[in-house]
Amino acid sequence: MNITGATRVLALIGSPVSHSLSPQIHNRFSDSLGLNYAYLAFDITHDGLKRFTEAARLMGIAGFNVTMPLKERIIPYLDAVSDAAGLCGAVNTVVNKAGTLIGHNTDGDGFARSLEREGFVFNGKKALVLGAGGAARAVALALAKRGMSVRMASRSPDKEVVAEGAEYCNWSDTGSEAEGCPLLVNATPLGMHGVNEDFADLSFLDALPSDSIIYDLIYSPRETALLKAAKGRGLRAINGVPHLVCQAALSFELFTGHTPSERVVSDLLTDTDIF
Ligand code: NAP
Repeated sequence: MNITGATRVLALIGSPVSHSLSPQIHNRFSDSLGLNYAYLAFDITHDGLKRFTEAARLMGIAGFNVTMPLKERIIPYLDAVSDAAGLCGAVNTVVNKAGTLIGHNTDGDGFARSLEREGFVFNGKKALVLGAGGAARAVALALAKRGMSVRMASRSPDKEVVAEGAEYCNWSDTGSEAEGCPLLVNATPLGMHGVNEDFADLSFLDALPSDSIIYDLIYSPRETALLKAAKGRGLRAINGVPHLVCQAALSFELFTGHTPSERVVSDLLTDTDIF
C-alpha cells in the first residue's frame, strides 16, 4: 500500500473492532487491483454514530462497513437503504455517493456465494437458521430468494413472517425443525470467543441428514463446540471465514466498482497467516 494525497479512505465501524480481519481483507483486495484505498477500523459506539456519519460526509470517506452493535442503529443516519437492507432491517455496508450515504446488506448474498463456491444447490431444499438477528434475517432472505424453505429458530418467534419462504419457529423446536434439513446455520453468538454462553444441548444435530452442512457464522474461534460436535457426527462443518471473505468482496465492489478476482478470494480463504 502506498498512501498518497489521493488515497481514498474505507472503514469499519462498530465496537469492539480491534480484532477484526476486515482491514486485512479489504486492503488485500485494493492492492490486488492496484487501487488507491486504505481501509481502517474505528471503534464507534451508538453515542458516536451521528458524528461519525457527519465526519464521513465531510471527509469524503468512500464507504464503510458496519458491525455489531450498530447494524440496525445506523439506519436513521442514512439517506437511503437498498431493498435487501430494508427487508432484513440491518446494514453492513454504507457507500458515500458525493455526500449521500446509502446502506446495503451484503451478508445474505455473501453467505450464499460462499455456499455456491462449495457446490451447494439451493433450490427446493429446507434450511434451518438459528437466531433471528440481523445476520440471521439476511441469510434467511438470501436462501429463500434462492428457492429454499427457511425456518429461523428464535427465542421470541412472535414476530411476523420475514418474507416469502422464510419464517420464524420456536427455539425449543430446533430438534424437530432440523429433520430433513441439508443446511443448518448458526447465526447466534453462542460459542463465540468472549461470549460466556454456548449451546446447552446439541442433540438437534442427530436429526440432520448425514450429508448436511453445518455452517457457523462465527470465525473466532475457528472451530466452535457446534462445529466440533458436527464433525464428530461425520457432518460437513464450515466456519464463518468463507462468509466473512465473500460478504467483504461484495462490499468492496459496492465501495469501489471493482470486483476482487476469484484468485484473490481463493488466496485469502487459504491464507493461514490471516485465518
Ligand atoms: P444479533 O443481531 O445480535 O442477533 C443475535 C441473535 O442470536 C438474536 O436472534 C438473539 O436472540 C440470538 N441469541 C443470542 N443469544 C441466544 C441464546 N442464548 N439462545 C438463543 N438465541 C440467542 O447479531 P448478528 O449481527 O445477527 O450476529 C449473529 C452472529 O453472526 C454473531 O456471532 C456474529 O459474529 C456472526 N456474524 C458473522 C459474520 C461473518 O462475516 N462471518 C457476519 C455477520 C455476523 P434474541 O433476539 O432473543 O436475543
